[in-house]
Amino acid sequence: MSTRYEDSQLYKIRHSAAHMMAQAVMEMFPGEAKIAIGPPIENGFYYDFDLPRSLTLEDLEAIEKRMREIIASDQPFVRKEVSADEARQQFVDQPYKLELIDGLEKGSFDEYGNPLDEKPVISFYIDGPFVDLCRGPHVESTGKVNPDAFKLLNVAGAYWRGDEKNKQLQRIYGTAWETAEELEQHLWRLEEARRRDHRKLGRELGLFTISQEVGPGLPLWLPKGAVLRDTLERFLRQEQLDRGYLPVLTPHIGKIDLYKTSGHWYTFRDNMFPPSAEPGVDLESDKSDGEVYILKPMNCPHHIAIYKSEPHSYRDLPLRLAEFGTVYRFEQSGELSGLLRVRSFTIDDSHLFVTPEQLEDEFIKVVDLVLYGFRALGLEDFTARVGLRDPASSKYVGSDEVWERAQAAIINAATKVGLSYTVEAGEAAFYGPKLDFIFRDALERQWQLGTVQVDYNLPERFDLEYIGEDGQRHRPVMIHFALFGSLERMVATLIEHHAGAFPVWLSPVQAQIIPIADRHVAYAQEVQQKLKAAGIRAEVDSSSERMQAKIRAAQLQKIPYMLVVGDKEREARAVAVRLRSGEDLKSKPLDEFIAIARDAIEGKK
Ligand SMILES: [Zn+2]
Ligand SMILES: [Zn+2]
Repeated sequence: MSTRYEDSQLYKIRHSAAHMMAQAVMEMFPGEAKIAIGPPIENGFYYDFDLPRSLTLEDLEAIEKRMREIIASDQPFVRKEVSADEARQQFVDQPYKLELIDGLEKGSFDEYGNPLDEKPVISFYIDGPFVDLCRGPHVESTGKVNPDAFKLLNVAGAYWRGDEKNKQLQRIYGTAWETAEELEQHLWRLEEARRRDHRKLGRELGLFTISQEVGPGLPLWLPKGAVLRDTLERFLRQEQLDRGYLPVLTPHIGKIDLYKTSGHWYTFRDNMFPPSAEPGVDLESDKSDGEVYILKPMNCPHHIAIYKSEPHSYRDLPLRLAEFGTVYRFEQSGELSGLLRVRSFTIDDSHLFVTPEQLEDEFIKVVDLVLYGFRALGLEDFTARVGLRDPASSKYVGSDEVWERAQAAIINAATKVGLSYTVEAGEAAFYGPKLDFIFRDALERQWQLGTVQVDYNLPERFDLEYIGEDGQRHRPVMIHFALFGSLERMVATLIEHHAGAFPVWLSPVQAQIIPIADRHVAYAQEVQQKLKAAGIRAEVDSSSERMQAKIRAAQLQKIPYMLVVGDKEREARAVAVRLRSGEDLKSKPLDEFIAIARDAIEGKK
């Protein structure tokens, strides 16, 4: 039984819905609508159009209505194989289809614009009056699509063939399912995802902002976001120190030759700053003072330089260097998104230099740290993916023996620690096998977080060595390890998973003190001092708002504890405790509240 999405009934339903949508749009703009590509995607489908005017939400309703009529007419989907010339005749007025036909004829890209290795058979799928350039598959007839289980969602701009230099088209997104219940559930998940969107919550909770003046993809951390990030950093740094990692700090730039030695200059050039396409920047020829510097895209070469700064014996190993290292990578502006796709981000980047014999032990320790870290962050539902080499390919560096050993080390470590993992052949990097951690959030969405990679390549390129027990020179193995991956991505994940209601220990403000009237402000400030002294982050809301409004504001800020103080509390040296869930814990002596909060913070509850 195949589990490929492409072979599933849902894929056929969505693909067929895309055709019907294109048919409806063409009827809406007779002779004027130019159709581009319309593939099924995860959870739905889209189609790109070049139209004489912008589509409105009313248009989407009209298109949906027409699609239901097409479903009711139950037209069969008929496949027809054609020559490139026949295809050109059919689409003589459709410039986008003509370009796709050229690609199919040459075998260079398919009808969705994806690269091809060989010439495919060109085929049409025809339902009623609508003909599309298409390899299928489809449902047998339009009536097989459930009229109550699809919905058109929105219109977005999309460049033809994904290139900003091309014309911007209108892309209609839709979703389709087998049953109305599945559709309803999906719409709920979408709504919930909007509610949890880290870009929206990041603004509302005062965590970060992105200024077009500074530049897209360069997040600015606001005070509360910086507290959150610092809390994460301090948590991990302490854990690293306890586990024998050594902190290091390295600059944000480096000589271009460093990245030539590492090979990044050749394999990673397109992602480096400054971007190669920038007019007037010709790094290679601009060597007026003999030295050219670039922003670092990776921390590894810098850590390697630290390793190389002194000779090593086997007694020094494993050497574990750790840095919250900020890197810069050029991403197309159209691909930037909140904290997830950025041009500047900070990796909790560790590089472990080990002897081949130490690999397995070191891997167990690394995985143990990952498990500990994710648990503390409330990220319980995750799996690991072991990426092994493709035995048929010759693109890998390192001998068979060291590969076998490293792959076995990863799998043994994962098994011993009780990690749930999948094994994927061919997913290794060319320089070594790896272990990726994928977290599944409250909405069952997957987030790639940390990664552990074995590396035989860089020790070779940088000629790293240590003196073994035998007095001879040996090559160490490197492990690249990041638990969070990027702090930006981790914070985005935490925001969306917790819907902004972070565990107490991570909350930027842990307690909001709410004086009922002005005369209670002095006591509120006294409470604040006591909490601060106990290591609890607390603020006083001394605004002139009424108490209910202050409680509401603190709830919107997802502050875990609201401490209301009035005459009674002042008399009793107490606070009236409310939780952000709305639960009322009533009045508690201040010391008792401090004990409760400390317990939640220390236990990372
Ligand atoms: Zn199709
Ligand atoms: Zn690295």
